[in-house]
Amino acid sequence: MSIRQTEGRGRFDSILDTVGDTPVVKINRIAPEHVTVYVKFEAFNPLGSVKDRLALNIIEAAERSGALKPGQTVVEATSGNTGIGLAMVCAAKGYPLVCVMADSFSVERRKLMRFLGAKVVLTPRAEKAYGMMVKLRELVEEHGWFNAAQFETSANADIHENTTAREIIGDFAGERLDYFVTGYGTGGTFSGVGRVLRKERPDTKIILTEPANAALVGSGTPQERNPDNTPSSGHPAWEPHPIQGWTPDIIPHVLQEGLDKGFYDELLPVAGPDGIAWSKRLAAEEGIFTGISGGSTFAISMQVAETAPEGSVILCMLPDTGERYLSTPLFDGIAEEMTEEEIAISRSTPSNQM
Ligand code: PMP
Repeated sequence: MSIRQTEGRGRFDSILDTVGDTPVVKINRIAPEHVTVYVKFEAFNPLGSVKDRLALNIIEAAERSGALKPGQTVVEATSGNTGIGLAMVCAAKGYPLVCVMADSFSVERRKLMRFLGAKVVLTPRAEKAYGMMVKLRELVEEHGWFNAAQFETSANADIHENTTAREIIGDFAGERLDYFVTGYGTGGTFSGVGRVLRKERPDTKIILTEPANAALVGSGTPQERNPDNTPSSGHPAWEPHPIQGWTPDIIPHVLQEGLDKGFYDELLPVAGPDGIAWSKRLAAEEGIFTGISGGSTFAISMQVAETAPEGSVILCMLPDTGERYLSTPLFDGIAEEMTEEEIAISRSTPSNQM
């Protein structure tokens, strides 16, 4: 292995032209030997998450349709990554942006959005994602802002059909791909990639995962909706879980498409602490630095691997970078000051500068 010798990735006219085309990376040390496990690593997007893709598409689709007027304010409810992606797109194109986010999501997320020039309106965590959506609707009605509507818009799954899925098809052309493993937030990744895999790789098993203590899909309880497909209440099966970006307290319309079309072969719940543990192992034993949702998807990929036949190939989505979680339980136990062991290393040489 060495640094790739190329003529460069290219020159780009805008940061927005660098969205997508993320690498698929092999797991070399922590996967069982009878299978091959790859991760599709979305941290390579310019703002570090899979949501850069739909942020760009929501804005450009609205520009094309005329739904978004030059200089009009954009508003969205977000667990953070969509807001950060939208903040990049809006900064690059000159639209003001207001993000509505529950105060349970990491402080890093708020600061990143503000650093990129967006305004962040916080809602109480007790009101969950549904509360964010109520505030979003009020802001749209009050100010006539453009609602990015990531949970309902067709621009969400479409971009995964047209980019994420195409990249996977290209990277596994002529090769085995036995399992594709993903969680869901809006469900855009699942529904968009599902459209393509079901058609072009019908033998690939799609594994959907969700938090064990917020198993909305597993509960079998349908989501109540308004005529515009927005939820009309929070889902009763939801409980607070540590997998930020996954499973709001609603079954989004975008996810519903994939559920209705039977895009998953198996639905496997994952416990948050397992996701955290696997995120740490990916970082410390593979050098792959992803967030809690990535660790959780990987936890389920390892579970699938246990019983997968010899030679199986598994592809696991890693939605974002671990750097978005410095203030969260992912970093519990990571010291700021020198540890005993580090002090001992420091004292092992004559210059004692402590
Ligand atoms: N992981 C993280 C950290 C996210 O922010 C999101 C999106 N909210 C997802 C996973 C899920 O992606 P999707 O919305 O495409 O289901």
